[in-house]
Amino acid sequence: MARTIGVGVIGMGEMGLVHTRSYQLVPQRFPDIDLKPQLVVCADNHEPRAEAAQSQFGFGARTTDWRDVMNNPEVSVVSITTPNDLHLELVEAAAAAGKHIACEKPVGRTPRETARIEQATRKSKAITCVGYNYRWAPVVQYARNIIQEKKLGEITHYRGRFLVDYGSDPNGVLSWRFQKEQAGYGTLGDLMSHVIDMAHMLVGDIKQVVAKQKRFISERPLAIPGTGTEFSVRHEGPRGPVTNEDYVGALVDFECGAQGTFEVCRVIKGPRCEMAFELNGTRGALKWDFERMNELQLHLPDGTDEHDGPVLVQAGPQHSHYGAFYSGPAMSMSYDDLKVIEAYEFLKSVGKQQQYEPGFSEALAVSRVQDAMERSWSSQRWEPVRAIDNG
Ligand code: NAD
Repeated sequence: MARTIGVGVIGMGEMGLVHTRSYQLVPQRFPDIDLKPQLVVCADNHEPRAEAAQSQFGFGARTTDWRDVMNNPEVSVVSITTPNDLHLELVEAAAAAGKHIACEKPVGRTPRETARIEQATRKSKAITCVGYNYRWAPVVQYARNIIQEKKLGEITHYRGRFLVDYGSDPNGVLSWRFQKEQAGYGTLGDLMSHVIDMAHMLVGDIKQVVAKQKRFISERPLAIPGTGTEFSVRHEGPRGPVTNEDYVGALVDFECGAQGTFEVCRVIKGPRCEMAFELNGTRGALKWDFERMNELQLHLPDGTDEHDGPVLVQAGPQHSHYGAFYSGPAMSMSYDDLKVIEAYEFLKSVGKQQQYEPGFSEALAVSRVQDAMERSWSSQRWEPVRAIDNG
């Protein structure tokens, strides 16, 4: 018989709703789970959002003060889905209150903040989870296994990218994402964090990088507080300055000797949500793109020239977690399903009191690479990946 575990969610915007839906769906998709999440309280400083989330999902309570979530003894797990400037304060409070913590990426606004966040939980009993959800695509996990089994030989090349168009309209509103004070980095935090985490999982640590950044759109119409998303557009009203970068590109030197390129942009026309990687080894290669997340292009030549070339692997019950969604192959899973898998794996780790991966330690590793990229776009040289000075 499953035990219940109390959940609080703070920040009921786009991701707060995704996290809440995921907690609700875990017991339906994974009936073997030992811990059944119970929605205790949701928080948003914008009252209508807290109210809407409570009535939509049936939280026991709602509040406009996140401290009520930390002080609630029925809450054991907290999801932090606010803008990035609140993550540090909220994680420190959650760790002090003895909660387990799922925090959205990028964990801190800067590498220093991420280091402080990791430090705040390292000595606590908190199990931590970071929303690097793209890891959980069933064929991405399959790719990870193939690489670990050395079926592709030694990895020689890796190209990672996350190219999206959410900011490509100059009338797209100045949401918090475009403001350094609230978001910290621009695409180096928002998009590159996913790219670095994926590369770490598939290829391993990074030794040094050379990077550059660019801002393409320097001002945008002000957003109406408490409404809309980063996709909202306004044609009238006052405008304000964009204060972080739209684009980052980097050459990457992995510890294992593989050579890589990473590229992220939020204002590009063409790709819509192209979180993708291409990887080559001495014996084979593979390619994946979130826009076709249920497919993996795999090149594993068997010495027969006549059929040498990539094959299409379609996700199916033989891949991790897929069977929780469908019993037959090639049924399309979605972004939300990755978040359900993430919530399931996180709650499983909480039940076992074993650290979940990717948690804050993996986020700290990501932030070391971000730190090197930022140093490089100032110095215009190769910069080593090194420990963060969180002074
Ligand atoms: P959002 O703007 O849609 O939602 C943020 C919510 O936080 C809003 O409802 C806002 O009113 C609320 N909020 C602001 N200040 C608050 C406070 N003091 N107390 C309580 N609530 C407060 O933003 P979002 O797109 O949901 O992003 C939230 C987080 O999720 C960010 O860290 C973002 O980077 C991350 N994110 C991750 C992914 C992913 O794929 N893993 C995707 C999108 C966003």
